[in-house]
Amino acid sequence: MAKLFLPSLPVCPHCKTIYRYGDVRKLLLKKEEKCYHCEKIFKISKKKLIILLLEFLLALLAVNLLLIGFVGVNLITLFIINVVLTALAATLLPYYILFVEKK
Ligand SMILES: [Zn+2]
Repeated sequence: MAKLFLPSLPVCPHCKTIYRYGDVRKLLLKKEEKCYHCEKIFKISKKKLIILLLEFLLALLAVNLLLIGFVGVNLITLFIINVVLTALAATLLPYYILFVEKK
C-alpha cells in the first residue's frame, strides 16, 4: 500500500517495516539504526537528499524570478516567501531518506 504514495517513507531493508514520519525525522542525524521490528541493523542513507536539494533550489529560483519579474513584490515579502518555502522543503526531508542493508 505504501508504495502507492510517492515520494515514500523509508522501509527496513530486512523486514520491510514502514517507518512513520516522526520516527524518520528522529533518525535524520544518525548513521545507522536497529530496526524496532526485526532488530537488524541498517544504514541510513542520505544520498537522495541531493535530489531534494536540487529540486528545491530550482523551484526557489523559478518562484523568485517569477515574483520579481512579473509580480514585482518587495524584498520583505520575497524573504518571507523564501522562508516559508524552505520550511516546507524541510518537512519533506524524511521522504528522501533511504534505509539500506549494512554490508
Ligand atoms: Zn526490520
